Amino acid sequence: MSAGAKTQDQFLSILSRDEAAARFDAALFPRVLRHERLALTDALGRAVAQDVVAPTDAPPFDRANVDGFALRAADVTGASEGTPIRLSLNGEIIACGVAPGLRVTEGSATPIATGGPLPRGADAVVMIEQTQPAGHDAIELRRPATPGQFVSYAGSDMARGETLVRAGSLISAREIGMLAACGIGALDVIARPRVAILSTGDELVQPGGRLGPAQIHDANGPMIAGAVAENGGDPLFLGAIHDDESALEKAMREALTNADMLLLSGGTSKGAGDLTYRIIARLGAPGVIAHGVALKPGKPLCLAVCDGKPVVILPGFPTSAMFTFHDMIAPVLRRMAGLPARAESKVTARLPVHVASELGRTEFVMTALVDGPEGLLAYPTGKGSGAVTSFTQADGFVKIDALADHAPAGAQVEVTLFSPNLRLPDLTIIGSHCTGLDLITGPLMAGGRQVRVIAVGSLGGLAAARRGECDLAPIHLFDDKSEAYNQPFLSEGLELIPGWRRMQGIVHRRDDPRFEGLDARAAVAKALLDDTCLMVNRNQGAGTRILLDRLLGGARPEGYWNQPKSHNAVAAAVAQGRADWGMTIAPVAQAYGLGFAPFAEEHYDLALVAARREKPAVQAFLDLLRSAEIRQALTAAGFRPA
Ligand code: AMP
Ligand code: MG
Repeated sequence: MSAGAKTQDQFLSILSRDEAAARFDAALFPRVLRHERLALTDALGRAVAQDVVAPTDAPPFDRANVDGFALRAADVTGASEGTPIRLSLNGEIIACGVAPGLRVTEGSATPIATGGPLPRGADAVVMIEQTQPAGHDAIELRRPATPGQFVSYAGSDMARGETLVRAGSLISAREIGMLAACGIGALDVIARPRVAILSTGDELVQPGGRLGPAQIHDANGPMIAGAVAENGGDPLFLGAIHDDESALEKAMREALTNADMLLLSGGTSKGAGDLTYRIIARLGAPGVIAHGVALKPGKPLCLAVCDGKPVVILPGFPTSAMFTFHDMIAPVLRRMAGLPARAESKVTARLPVHVASELGRTEFVMTALVDGPEGLLAYPTGKGSGAVTSFTQADGFVKIDALADHAPAGAQVEVTLFSPNLRLPDLTIIGSHCTGLDLITGPLMAGGRQVRVIAVGSLGGLAAARRGECDLAPIHLFDDKSEAYNQPFLSEGLELIPGWRRMQGIVHRRDDPRFEGLDARAAVAKALLDDTCLMVNRNQGAGTRILLDRLLGGARPEGYWNQPKSHNAVAAAVAQGRADWGMTIAPVAQAYGLGFAPFAEEHYDLALVAARREKPAVQAFLDLLRSAEIRQALTAAGFRPA
């Protein structure tokens, strides 16, 4: 049996998440962790490799705790208001850093500062406030002192030989202070695992580079490097390698000579270019441990151990890569770095919508939390595992059991938070997204308000507003019967806030002579007569689609079934030549450098949940919306404020 055929078998036997994690663990632990010696100030956040024992006492000598006088308690036993006792002052002042030279003998005292070493003979300190000067070089006391009063004895804070920090504990600023006080300038800590990171794929271009046709930016490489650093590793990002077996094998072997772990992404599905897992089998024993895990996102995950080093192929799609990293790799990396498992914090919330799930795979749904009328709601942020924003817009994730095929709307769920300090938004906007909205939310956020915009389209936003789950729902819905925008769709408890107008029109490439000089109706009429002319439509339910259908008058030209869900997707299809014409809004046409024949103005307004009108963040939004600056900014971006 060839190595390739053998690995295919392993891909067919998909393991459960827990089984895969257990096998990976068993192949990696227990293991000896590398140590390194670091200067104390560089050890922040590291795990201590060996117990650290105090080499000296702290404080190193008996010292005064207050500003005052060092004396012998026995000399002032009888002092009282009626019978003050006079002590002569010795001829030195013990400031901090001054070693005493004179003995405190019977009937004498020595001025001493807080932290000053107690002179020989003295056994107590009195505060300066509780003494009176008595002529030159003498003081009077009107109350007795007890032996040991205001004295810290040598070693009372930390005693020589005492264990200060235990192996495995983490160094925070507080530990640094303690070790510094004991004179420890360097210590042994667990070395950060060196993690080599390689992206794979012919289509990848590093961020900062220009995309050619069919190319995408490498999101995984930089993202995984960041996640490695966040979890105690030392990332070594080596860029993207083409899907070429020998180049890939060479890069992987080189990476492994210098690294403790190798993380790849892409190339785990069974396409012609997917070679990585075959190479792993040649890199060292035991090789592939799991290829295919019943996780969603993340099924193509491949876990291997080659001569003691973890070698992992994360799925290519960024959300899947990130999720599997956090779920399966971060725990292993943290153990290798000597760090404790990440503290998990959870909150309960309700799902506002039905969430479908694949039977047989443990599914993780990224969610954003918003404050609803009856507690927290967890809105799914996912746009499919190919999207990178699912993570950044989420507060945490919900786990749906492998045995469930969905979670119903209204279900109580547990949300595992990405960060233990959850901050709920001050302003929640759910509905249709528009770049004009960013012109308002930007300044709000710069002013310190937390704003969350969840893009679910006009109808989804209206439903959320009716349930009282948001403050504002941006909508642009045209009512055929009344021929009016938005107002006819409002129900009780909602109020329409006029937003801005967006000019809808027909877009085409500027250099396309077929559309030169034509208005929107003429352009569409011409396109309908020319079967080389390909359209791009919009999804059912979109305001743009309603306008288009009216223009088409029942015609179904070539391209009609290509129905993307955004203004931008229409512009991209036309700009790249996948289609020749479509309908989008003026600012988007402008951004893509397309020719634009205006057709009709669309009203983009906001449905306000009236009960939330008085919230400060809502007021701030409304003030901005009406301000001269924002109206100017909207106009400059191609919108017409209402
Ligand atoms: P693959 O497993 O290589 O077939 O990749 C699956 C999908 O993930 C493809 O659409 C790839 O273009 C995409 N992908 C792979 N690597 C990356 C990466 N480093 N950054 C962004 N997307 C990627
Ligand atoms: Mg690939």
